[in-house]
Amino acid sequence: MYSIAIDGPSGAGKSTLAKRLADEFNWAYVDTGAIYRAVGLACERGEICATDLERVSELLPKLNISLDYSGGSQRTLLNGLDVSDEIRRDDISKLASDVSALAPVRAYLLGLQRDAARSHNVVMDGRDIATVVLPEATVKVYLTATPQVRAERRRHELLLRGENRTFAQVLSSIQKRDANDSGRAEAPLRQAEDAVLLDTTELTLDEAFAALLEIVRTGIA
Ligand code: C5P
Repeated sequence: MYSIAIDGPSGAGKSTLAKRLADEFNWAYVDTGAIYRAVGLACERGEICATDLERVSELLPKLNISLDYSGGSQRTLLNGLDVSDEIRRDDISKLASDVSALAPVRAYLLGLQRDAARSHNVVMDGRDIATVVLPEATVKVYLTATPQVRAERRRHELLLRGENRTFAQVLSSIQKRDANDSGRAEAPLRQAEDAVLLDTTELTLDEAFAALLEIVRTGIA
């Protein structure tokens, strides 16, 4: 069984490249950010502050989050309803980042992520896949790019979804999320010692994919 762990900050190209890689090998693509987003959405719906450890902890046992791959791609279900589109909203990114700093949230979601890799070959992306979720992953890649390039990519992605943000707004939210994700005590975003660094700042999507493919082919050979 193969597992490919791809970590890195937001906007580095993780999800696009991970999805393409999974398609190339016909493996499952597991987007772990989606489950943190689902918890963030549940907080919004329950009018719970996403940094409130006690209230978020009380909410967790009432949540039923599951990942469904039956249609060929990942759908995220919250209490039985498909929230895959709604969790992509920009304001949910901040809530996801807030809840992800809470230890009970990370502990609660760990089993769900490991289960996804137990029975299939997977390409899994997130912040702590190589360091915490799948420390035995076959190949570990740390994808990054400068904050400016990541902000421009994210702005474009939001625009395609109908959310119009200025470059400065997106850059500021990316920088806040970077600080949150790298500075937290629980499973902070960092490159695992045995992960290969891939900086996509100067690369087109096709070039980044070719580089990733080379890393993975070498790693599984
Ligand atoms: O990858 P995405 O932007 O969808 O993730 C949303 C947030 O979820 C991240 O900013 C991060 O705080 C959190 N996350 C995490 N660990 C993961 C995946 C996501 O802490 N493995």
